[in-house]
Amino acid sequence: MSSQPNSQTEEECGIAAIGKNCFGCGVCACICPRALLSIRLNKNGFFAPSATNEPQCAHCNLCLSICPCTNAVPAAPAGKIEPEAWSAESRREQLLRKSAAGGIARELAEEWMDRGRSVCEAVFNAQENCLEHIVLRNPEDLERGTGAKYLQSYTLPGFSHLNGHERFLVIGTPCQIDGLRRYIRKRHWEEHFVLVDFFCRGVPSMRLWLKFTRFFKKKRQSFIDVAWHEKTNGKKEDRIVFTGKDGTGTAAGSRRNELFFGFYRDDLCLASACYDRCKYKGTASAADLRLGEFRNPDAQNGKDTTGSILVLSEKGRRALEETAHRLKRTRQTLDDVLAGQMTGNAVRPRDNAVFRLFLRSAMPLNLILKWKQWTRLLLYLPQELRRRFRKRS
Ligand code: SF4
Ligand code: SF4
Ligand code: SF4
Repeated sequence: MSSQPNSQTEEECGIAAIGKNCFGCGVCACICPRALLSIRLNKNGFFAPSATNEPQCAHCNLCLSICPCTNAVPAAPAGKIEPEAWSAESRREQLLRKSAAGGIARELAEEWMDRGRSVCEAVFNAQENCLEHIVLRNPEDLERGTGAKYLQSYTLPGFSHLNGHERFLVIGTPCQIDGLRRYIRKRHWEEHFVLVDFFCRGVPSMRLWLKFTRFFKKKRQSFIDVAWHEKTNGKKEDRIVFTGKDGTGTAAGSRRNELFFGFYRDDLCLASACYDRCKYKGTASAADLRLGEFRNPDAQNGKDTTGSILVLSEKGRRALEETAHRLKRTRQTLDDVLAGQMTGNAVRPRDNAVFRLFLRSAMPLNLILKWKQWTRLLLYLPQELRRRFRKRS
């Protein structure tokens, strides 16, 4: 897979019927009996299917039958239960310092592996400069999957190696997990899987990441991993840190950080599906467990090490019970767990098309951000002045 976007438009990708609404989960490519579909970056920097030899299509519709775009609601997990809400965090201080959402995902994965099973999750591929799902079988490899990741992952390296004779824990975005649920159900593998997703606010364009890392191009050759957050005194900070082969980290300076997070926080260049078609907010999920951060209303110390868990199926409940000795858990109300999460989709900015255009061009990120600052000033200053004037009178 090349992480360089190809020249397809997002609307033309893959099998015409589904490409238009694509979430980029990749399961259509996994199931095609003629191996006609590949998953590539479209011109806006998002993963979508591309038919390599369309005339050979058998019109079996297997790809369509499992595509999460063709259904209005997520596929319900087998043994679905009323959501149980928990806050939780790892008992290991060291893990809490570097992981997101209480280190719950890592503890689940480690316990799963200790029992001789396999994990499939997204890790950073330094060579391709992208995030990709892979199957992990060694506990030491779990380090690579730890921490929040802020890119859309290329799922095929992991999903295409899933099978019906091993037991897998798979962690992914809600739309990836919805596609995967339909895929393993079609294959009759579902009983071997526990699927985990998380409260998701959207994935930014790979065009942004490629532009951002251009600054680090030389140094990047020697980097093996990337973390998008650092923790200072238990408080999470948006700070991108590249890890070298010797294990030392190089943090991007605050102005450089802003070149990535300045886009991400304002939802300037998310996938179309994240703005228009996401159906995975709140408790809407195809997973057995949903993870997130827990915004504790009573927290006195400003630390945000606690995570939240929604248990959505019997199988999810069993997986969590197996991990009981690793986590400090407290039962919460559903409202408290959902309180800190997005309730609706990200709002597409009026000038989203302009950002997409700029990201496709050779324009450097700092100039695009300047343009953003000026247009925001021009767009919002008159509103702000009007508001203040009304307040006075
Ligand atoms: S199965 Fe996934 S990758 Fe394929 S078209 Fe549907 S959403 Fe896109
Ligand atoms: S219809 Fe069948 S053969 Fe054609 S692309 Fe889809 S899965 Fe492959
Ligand atoms: S916001 Fe929704 S559509 Fe976008 S990546 Fe997350 S789950 Fe998928």
